[in-house]
Amino acid sequence: MQIYDVAIIGAGAVGTAIARELSKLSIKVVVVDRLNDVGGDASKSNSAIIHTGFDAPPDSLESRMVVNANPLYDKLCCDLDIPFKRTGAVLVAVTETEEAELPSIMAKAHANHVDDLEMLSAKEVLELEPAVTPDVRGGLLVPRESIIDPFLFVVALAENATANGTEFLTGWEVSNLTFNENEYTVESPKGEITAKFVVNAAGLFADKISSFLGIDDFKVHPRRGQFHILDKAAPIGTKRIILPVPTKVSKGKICTPTIHGNWLIGPTAEELDDKTATQSTPEGLSDIVAGVVKLVPGVDARYAITQYAGLRPVRTPGGYHLRTFENLPGFLELSGIRSTGLTSSLAVARYGCEKLFKMGLSNKYKKHFVSKRQAIPCFREADEKARNKLIKQNPLYGKVICRCETVTEAEIVEAIRRKPGATDLDGIKRRVRAGLGRCQGGFCGMRTPQILARELDISIEEVTKKGTGSEILDGTTKSLRA
Ligand SMILES: Cc1cc2nc3c(=O)[nH]c(=O)nc-3n(C[C@H](O)[C@H](O)[C@H](O)COP(=O)(O)OP(=O)(O)OC[C@H]3O[C@@H](n4cnc5c(N)ncnc54)[C@H](O)[C@@H]3O)c2cc1C
Repeated sequence: MQIYDVAIIGAGAVGTAIARELSKLSIKVVVVDRLNDVGGDASKSNSAIIHTGFDAPPDSLESRMVVNANPLYDKLCCDLDIPFKRTGAVLVAVTETEEAELPSIMAKAHANHVDDLEMLSAKEVLELEPAVTPDVRGGLLVPRESIIDPFLFVVALAENATANGTEFLTGWEVSNLTFNENEYTVESPKGEITAKFVVNAAGLFADKISSFLGIDDFKVHPRRGQFHILDKAAPIGTKRIILPVPTKVSKGKICTPTIHGNWLIGPTAEELDDKTATQSTPEGLSDIVAGVVKLVPGVDARYAITQYAGLRPVRTPGGYHLRTFENLPGFLELSGIRSTGLTSSLAVARYGCEKLFKMGLSNKYKKHFVSKRQAIPCFREADEKARNKLIKQNPLYGKVICRCETVTEAEIVEAIRRKPGATDLDGIKRRVRAGLGRCQGGFCGMRTPQILARELDISIEEVTKKGTGSEILDGTTKSLRA
């Protein structure tokens, strides 16, 4: 049986951020996830915004974590070589009631120590963002709200942690967790591991993981958020993230550019029981458009190229709970990280490490921590000279597989060969964007599986979209006819 210092359950933004932080230490760390890739749950299906925390509940742990995390992104994204843009956001008030809310939102921002917001008149909003509705009555400029690629964020954290010795076990669902004689046994149908410290970063399933240890004072339920992704050519015309006045339940439906030049509109906020209900619905999708056109009239669903939905892990009782327990030395539970966890993960990771140190984890830092990770060279973004150089170094750069996003075979091969690497079509999409363009895999949909089969040394029938049960081929057409 494998023995580790720390076992992290959950390889979302929170689990991988803490893994990278712990990989700075001279200890043995493993991250396990039930899905067959990292970042496969809430961390891949969100609004992709790095918040400032201006509207977080003041004096809360959430506010502290989000506010502390935001400034960390410039350096981290540089170190991990991932795209990140400080676009800023404009919060738009359209009704008289919304306009009346603006001073209290500003006061909340000050209470959260976010002091760089600017109150805007209707004229100033339209000067900054002419594509916003002419009905605007006023607004707020939030300069440091930013956009990121959430998939690459988690992948890059995981790759960098791996480069520093962390192990990742994917397709490894924790089915039991027991504590005996100062160590934990983490069980899954695939085997067992032992660890002195365990971090519960299981998001929507944090209640289930804690319940294995007899902690049953909270529940987590899903609040679904659906989105439309619009084509890069959609004539939206805004530059910043356009936010509505938030409600008590959610930040409301927004319109934002994505880091790759598409447009994202959504999300809905639907309370559900089913933790697997990630499907989108006609009602939800039309609700998004109806909400967002009130802010940006140019939004048109005919430009939608795809849709997705994510489940916010809503905890009852609510709020961030980053807890340790006297009777369970070495166990850290990170729950209730509901709708700001992509942002807060970096601060949660640091806070979590402090809690682990207090419980006795050695804080001896490695001499040779590798802080930087290099992105897979991107053919799409290279100029002609750089493209020729890439092709000369590796002829597979001369073979474009995804035409919409100009992704080459060399990039796909590297996405598979990196650690943790892509093992299915979604893993390729997340790392290099093959299949995420206008045709959504219509062209590369059969070429990428062939590369996956060859690189993983499996048959084409074994290639999946996202793990077992999502095989994309059933056999040959001839065998169907027989
Ligand atoms: C619609 C929507 C919009 C959002 N917008 C934003 C935003 O713009 N900015 C922002 O900062 N945040 C946003 N969020 C919130 C953010 O996405 C989450 O807070 C964050 O992703 C939570 O990360 P996590 O690692 O805690 O959870 P997850 O990403 O869900 O990771 C938990 C992991 O645990 C694994 N797991 C669960 N059970 C087990 C088990 N038994 N064994 C092994 N592994 C297990 C899961 O497979 C999963 O990979 C949004 C969320 C949603 C849904």
